[in-house]
Amino acid sequence: MHVFTTHSGLTSYLSAFQDSSLTIGCVPTMGALHKGHMALMQKAKSETDLVVATIFVNPTQFNEKADLTNYPKPLAKDIGMLEAAEVDVLFLPTESVVYPPDFEAVQVDLAGLDLVMEGKFRPGHFAGVVTVVHRLLELVEPNRLYMGLKDYQQQAIISHMIEALRLEVDLIPCPIVREDDGLAYSSRNARLTTKHRQIASSIHNVLLKCKQKCASDPVKEVRVWAIDALNSAGFRTEYVEFVDGKTLQSIDRMDDHSLVIACVASWLGEVRLIDNMVMKGRL
Ligand code: AMP
Repeated sequence: MHVFTTHSGLTSYLSAFQDSSLTIGCVPTMGALHKGHMALMQKAKSETDLVVATIFVNPTQFNEKADLTNYPKPLAKDIGMLEAAEVDVLFLPTESVVYPPDFEAVQVDLAGLDLVMEGKFRPGHFAGVVTVVHRLLELVEPNRLYMGLKDYQQQAIISHMIEALRLEVDLIPCPIVREDDGLAYSSRNARLTTKHRQIASSIHNVLLKCKQKCASDPVKEVRVWAIDALNSAGFRTEYVEFVDGKTLQSIDRMDDHSLVIACVASWLGEVRLIDNMVMKGRL
């Protein structure tokens, strides 16, 4: 695997690919890699000629300093996993490569997609995400961008950005990868205590139950039930929202929408977990 920390190193290697008809797939991550990330790498490998993984813990998308400070950074392990998966290139830029002194963040109207759920509870988060993903696209110039549906709102916002700016890249949303008990893989799971890890899978179980309940009960009632079920299991729930899969606005009636996603953010101790599930329709 080739590892580059500078833009010039990366582009001099990638230019031969960019000049040819070969396709480049990019998988942006913040490191602390797990099976969720590796599924994105595998999909990118099977669909493109060259895979560029990026690891950059982007300070501008952290709204809480402690979350940034505590974010795990097991770089040697990450490199080993990427090598074992035969990823072609790792781009490991420093902060000054991503944000040089003359850097100006791209401006995009996000049509309100950034004002709900994560956007409401993590002010500034999506401005940071849009800025860094746009910048990584500028640096890597991939044909395809692989992102996980674990961060449903994030991929919806990036899809909107790509369309709004008419960027020449295809976004490939990838399914959520879960542990055996249903907990979605996340770099933050490593910070759960043993006791909290045991109850963490309740999020998935509650979402499964929501899907059943939505067939017969009003959305409002299912939502109240879900918040109560999570909090009774030991979580501190920030939100459970049933949203239209395109607009991300909360819905009242399932019948009025072809794609409905239930999204959750909930705390276990000091760890904030997010998850989601399709309640109606297909992605
Ligand atoms: P992160 O390192 O958390 O920024 O995640 C990098 C990419 O991996 C994002 O596109 C995430 O949505 C995706 N991802 C993280 N966890 C999972 C998972 N459990 N299943 C699928 N994709 C994931």
